[in-house]
Amino acid sequence: MGLMFMTDLDGTLLGHDDFSFASIRDDILALLGAGVTIVPNSSKTSREISVFCDELGASLPFICENGAALVNRQLFDLPPTPASADVVGLAPDRLMALWDHHIEASLKRHCHFLADLPEAEQAWHLGLRGAALKQAMARDYSVPFVFTGPEPAFAGLRQQAATAGLAVKRGGRVCNLSAGHDKSGFAQSLRAEYQAAGSELVIVGFGDGDNDIGMLETSDIACVVPRPGHPPLTLASPPPTVITARRAAPEGWLEAARQALSILECKRGDQHG
Ligand SMILES: [Mg+2]
Repeated sequence: MGLMFMTDLDGTLLGHDDFSFASIRDDILALLGAGVTIVPNSSKTSREISVFCDELGASLPFICENGAALVNRQLFDLPPTPASADVVGLAPDRLMALWDHHIEASLKRHCHFLADLPEAEQAWHLGLRGAALKQAMARDYSVPFVFTGPEPAFAGLRQQAATAGLAVKRGGRVCNLSAGHDKSGFAQSLRAEYQAAGSELVIVGFGDGDNDIGMLETSDIACVVPRPGHPPLTLASPPPTVITARRAAPEGWLEAARQALSILECKRGDQHG
């Protein structure tokens, strides 16, 4: 049986304010050593996730920009597939052309694209500066913005975007405009590919924000990591097992991971005992 931990990064595996995972780095490496496939699935860019992998000291397959692309497929234990199947996102100029054409002006005025803001404001919204800010702004398949309107207008915006084949996702810090993909897409296709290859796959999903809901609901076990000062995420269509960590990231990630492993261990014991 293959075991995959598919995880959001910011606020889930990385601390909400300091983006640190130093306190659980050795534990993550131990999980990899024990054969768990860890797949970051983040709104971060490919470059940012590569930096995370370098800091971890491990090459990982990952999904970037809210399900836009799958990177490092060769690291999965799967038969080769054309690499073209691994990009479902649209480039920012295509996204903005659709936005300009399909979204009403009354909704657009609540949206402030980060690229149009001074660097100091970009830094404030993203909680990043210097090289990390540049990496976060260099997006291949999405356009980050801040929404300042009322909630009903946000719902209206989401609806108009969906009609245009676009998606508006709200992460922990900013919103992102992208094509109509989300974090659950590659989770579903990878599960199907493992099945086709004759191997059973258990997916444990980890998330903290609205943009993680689809991925968590697609997982076999959903691990919710609470965000400081917010009630933990609730799932409308939860999988049979949902674990809600008591601690925030990064320690809450490890707490949930250990609970998931012990639940799987018990299940396996039941099956063989
Ligand atoms: Mg998050």
